[in-house]
Amino acid sequence: MKDLIGLSKEELSEEMASIGEKPFRAKQLWQWIYFHGVTDFAKMSNLSKPLRDKLQQNYFISRPKIVTEQLSSDGTHKWLLEFADGERIETVYIPEEDRGAVCISTQVGCAVGCKFCHTGSQKITRNLTAGEIVAQFMVARDAYGEWPSPTNETRYLSNIVVMGMGEPLHNKDNVFKALKILSDGDGIAISKRRITLSTSGIVPHIEDVAKELGVKLAISLHAPTNEKRSNIMPINTRYPIEDVLSACQKYQAIMGMSRMITFEYLMLKDFNDTPEDAKLLIALMKKYNLGAKFNLIPFNPWPGCNFEPSSNNKVHAFSKILEQAGYEAPIRVARGQDILAACGQLKSKNTTATK
Ligand code: SAH
Ligand code: SF4
Repeated sequence: MKDLIGLSKEELSEEMASIGEKPFRAKQLWQWIYFHGVTDFAKMSNLSKPLRDKLQQNYFISRPKIVTEQLSSDGTHKWLLEFADGERIETVYIPEEDRGAVCISTQVGCAVGCKFCHTGSQKITRNLTAGEIVAQFMVARDAYGEWPSPTNETRYLSNIVVMGMGEPLHNKDNVFKALKILSDGDGIAISKRRITLSTSGIVPHIEDVAKELGVKLAISLHAPTNEKRSNIMPINTRYPIEDVLSACQKYQAIMGMSRMITFEYLMLKDFNDTPEDAKLLIALMKKYNLGAKFNLIPFNPWPGCNFEPSSNNKVHAFSKILEQAGYEAPIRVARGQDILAACGQLKSKNTTATK
């Protein structure tokens, strides 16, 4: 028995050929799975009974097990999901006024080990498969009954942010495959302009995001100098700021300057939050001539982490300096804090993290 979720269109065609069916059956199946969200072959009304039986005998269309589900007072919705081998990850839905983003995970744990991140304190267990990545979005769609895929823009689940657990560019093949499935116009159909991939800066694959995928890019920068960045993000010793920003130039050369790159910047008290730090950031952006905007992120604490969030005053002053230099620099509103659903708080195990 084989799970059909996560197969590319080509692979689905090959599967149909392997059971003696014509390629157009793959198209029909694709629509049932990704446009209608059907998990039961019996409901695929344009397929003959013998074919439905044959599919039932060879395949299944799965969803991960929902271990727990929590709803925040601000509407943020978090699922702890368990896959066939018992590994767990979290997925979050963040509603906004007329739309909303699903924040998906790409790995169980993370090998990058950023000091401020709960996921990073959990080491890496394994990569998620393309099917496991796609299925997270499908669980959220199930919950909001948003099947068949809405064709208008006013959908609850309008955006995808690859900002959950894991470093997506350490699992590039599966993540790219999953995002191609999620953006396919015959199925779930989330536009590539509404998908953002966030990376800690895995330099050899940044350009590939433009070349092979064409989704939006966010870089977790978090510090204006290599010395500071290496202090909180060990990956910086391998891929320093200059290399990350050069790779961003290549991304923008392909995608166009108007496709802004978002630089995520965590505001850590007494570490990276002075006006001097903001000015260094501006100098960096100017030097590399990037179409850039910032996203200032208040630090979300978790048990065992020693960092503290910067004061509101400092964050606002920081934002103002960047904006005066012509860069958008909104301060992210932390969502779902009462259920520990905010960035950097996601986890796989129900344990208290140790440093
Ligand atoms: N690994 C990728 C994507 C997942 S992390 C990356 O690092 O970009 C998504 C975002 O959450 C990153 O910008 C990350 O720096 C941020 N983050 C991690 N820990 C955080 C915390 N404790 N508080 C706020 N944001 C955090
Ligand atoms: Fe990994 Fe991103 Fe967390 Fe760093 S911030 S440890 S790269 S998930």
